[in-house]
Amino acid sequence: MINSITDTITLNDGTAFPRFGLGTYKMDDGRTVEDASRWALEYGYRHIDTASFYGNEAGVGQALRDCGIQRNQMFITTKVWNADHGFDSTLRACEASLRALGLDYIDMYLMHWPGQNVDNRRRTWDAMQQLQHQQKVRAIGVSNFTPEHLNDLISATGTAPSVNQVELHPLFPQKQLRQYAADHGIAITAWGPLLHGHLAQVPEAAAIGEAYGKTAAQVILRWHLQNGICIIPKSSRQHRIRENASIFDFELSDAHMAAINALEDGTHYGADPDTMTYGFTS
Ligand code: NDP
Repeated sequence: MINSITDTITLNDGTAFPRFGLGTYKMDDGRTVEDASRWALEYGYRHIDTASFYGNEAGVGQALRDCGIQRNQMFITTKVWNADHGFDSTLRACEASLRALGLDYIDMYLMHWPGQNVDNRRRTWDAMQQLQHQQKVRAIGVSNFTPEHLNDLISATGTAPSVNQVELHPLFPQKQLRQYAADHGIAITAWGPLLHGHLAQVPEAAAIGEAYGKTAAQVILRWHLQNGICIIPKSSRQHRIRENASIFDFELSDAHMAAINALEDGTHYGADPDTMTYGFTS
């Protein structure tokens, strides 16, 4: 039973990684992201997921400084953007993120997308390893990697990322990728855990929720946790930030887990990592 918002898993490099956090994509910098982060921290969230691409690292950092919680009790993920792939540019991108966040170190640094340039992808990873060695980042991982991208990175560098953050939800449960990750000791974080907001696509979740006095969003988030998937649901609204965190006091039955597992239909909302070129310069 996963019964605490502060539960962690141990990554392949020994880092304790929170299973639950706040997503911040499409939150404006300044008041919007600062308020959302502050509410989240008040409700017990200890992990905030941002990215240089989101343009809101400064606001996340401000909320962290204002909250009074010890730095080592909080976990910050940010990401190197596509335009910064390459060794030196990744080092510079990390420095820029540290400055924007106002932090001495980043807890989890992810390669945001794999891109099509395999050499540049490997150089980006080499720089991320150096940043980890220099203790500017505690853990390194990737995002939007398919099993083929992971396989290439592992065979080229002899190292496996600690985390792969990918689109994942009941309609798109990424079973093959999850199996690959399990076989190689890579943790999975779901982005778009609430179907990117398209909850109406799964009316079954609301119906199941009635049995527990929970909402559709709470049922889906609980499904992720019981499947061993880490989650970073995004909301800018105070009541939903609290609602999304109120999932540690119930457990979906095997029958309800099976019913949600059966919803897979391949629907996804994000770009295909194999063809995604947005933001890349080479
Ligand atoms: P989510 O699945 O978290 O859904 C967010 C949407 O759902 C928003 O429209 C939000 O609206 C709405 N919502 C949140 N809570 C509820 C609720 N309880 N009831 C009804 N609606 C709700 O999608 P995201 O795409 O934001 O993914 C989560 C996070 O993952 C991102 O914020 C980001 O940090 C990360 N991400 C990473 C990507 C990558 O490439 N690595 C790509 C995309 C996201 P409102 O805010 O109005 O409440």
